[in-house]
Amino acid sequence: MKIAILALQGAFAEHEQMLRQLGCDTFLIRCLDDWNQPKDGLVIPGGESTAMMRILQDEGLIEPIRQAILQGLPVFGTCAGMILLDDAHLHTMDISVRRNAYGRQLGSFYTEDHFEGVDQMIPMTFIRAPYITRVGQGCKVLSVVDGNMVAAQQENQLVTSFHPELNQDTRVHSYFLEMIRKSQFAM
Ligand code: GLN
Repeated sequence: MKIAILALQGAFAEHEQMLRQLGCDTFLIRCLDDWNQPKDGLVIPGGESTAMMRILQDEGLIEPIRQAILQGLPVFGTCAGMILLDDAHLHTMDISVRRNAYGRQLGSFYTEDHFEGVDQMIPMTFIRAPYITRVGQGCKVLSVVDGNMVAAQQENQLVTSFHPELNQDTRVHSYFLEMIRKSQFAM
């Protein structure tokens, strides 16, 4: 399986490492030429959503990425990546997201909690994280931490507020790869 990782800025190297550990081929996307390679899925990492939006715009990547996702390309957005997919940015997912939702004090923390479809609790590292404030119909909430929605899936799109790539546990990435397999089977 070949996974594209958006690498404009932010925590892309850790995703690369984890996906390779799971046996995937990966490549980084910094411009339109990179984007125009065949791929089975896309990862949008954490970082700074405003900076990422600006670079996406400058590189002419917004519409190509948006269209590919709307046409079914599986995508996994973590943290800032979740913000980029919401109804105020690329709007491929019918969710509303609050940026820096935990405020400055509680901006970064670690916890372990449930994730739908994974048996045991998974480690969750939050870094100035957003959470989901609204999900549309057709969007399934996969994890709720302290009453806040922190992971969701809408068909080919998966988002988490936290950073599964920053711990050793590969199960959320495996969940994404399973999503890709199922979508390919359905095609
Ligand atoms: N606070 C960042 C933003 O608003 C997201 C933080 C992250 O991706 N770790 O874009």
